[in-house]
Amino acid sequence: MASLGNPKNTIQILQKYRLQTQKKYGQNFLVDTRILEKIIEAAQITRQDFVLEIGPGIGTMTQYLCEAAGAVAAVEIDAHLIPVLEDTLSGYSNIEILNADILKVDIAKLAEEKNGGKPFKVVANLPYYITTPILMRLLESRVPVESITIMVQKEVADRMQAKPGTKDYGALSLAVQYFAKPEVIVQVPPGCFLPQPKVGSSVVRLTRYEKPPVETEDEALMFSMIRASFNQRRKTLVNGLCNFGQFHLEKEEIKECICGLGFPENVRGEALTLEQFARLANEFKKKICIK
Ligand code: SAM
Repeated sequence: MASLGNPKNTIQILQKYRLQTQKKYGQNFLVDTRILEKIIEAAQITRQDFVLEIGPGIGTMTQYLCEAAGAVAAVEIDAHLIPVLEDTLSGYSNIEILNADILKVDIAKLAEEKNGGKPFKVVANLPYYITTPILMRLLESRVPVESITIMVQKEVADRMQAKPGTKDYGALSLAVQYFAKPEVIVQVPPGCFLPQPKVGSSVVRLTRYEKPPVETEDEALMFSMIRASFNQRRKTLVNGLCNFGQFHLEKEEIKECICGLGFPENVRGEALTLEQFARLANEFKKKICIK
């Protein structure tokens, strides 16, 4: 029976193992059963599922995952937490605990070994200091992730869902929306964690598209262009792309591509939709190929 999702039991575990929460690892443990239940429900986990949990901490959400899923692999960087996890998860036979940095784990290999390469689900209360690199690895690499249900900083959740022309719109919005459908499930105040973070949080579910909603001939080129456009947010799109210096096109050629799609010369990257970035990337590709 899951037992840790409250302050009293969490404090007991921390005292039993003389643990200090590690700020450098973004350790804010969930102590609210209502939020834990919402996460499990949003992830739509069944006994057929293999779930990857990133950063199990003392095993709070892991207990819920073990009760709902067929099998769970939990990757925790902090070696001090491994004996704790072995204790708090001792009642479950469907868990594998790995002491590793998730950014160094070969997730495709893990999914192949544990789940025969079939689609799996990721569920995590993420360490906020590395949310974007974790997410980009899961989305950009061709691992068979079906959905990602994660706790993130509220501001990051806003960026994932942002639309063109808004202050939150940027490279993360475009990358997430190219690969997945983002939905905010619930807002989570600091009081639901121990220790309390300084920022508000949101649980987000990303359901991966089987096929991206727009077509581009060169995905890598499109994402380089997106990064270049938002690197220098206050510059025009022409200057952002030109200053990036990696597209091997003259400023006039970049202008031709942008104006050829019907945009004014001074348009900024933040005005373009995902589909327009895809079309612009195709125009770039044509020009680069005939050089
Ligand atoms: N899942 C627990 C919960 O909800 O109470 C803990 C969540 S806490 C926000 C983030 C966890 O991720 C911590 O246990 C931390 O040690 C772990 N972590 C931080 N960086 C990591 C990394 N690079 N790879 C794997 N785990 C990491």
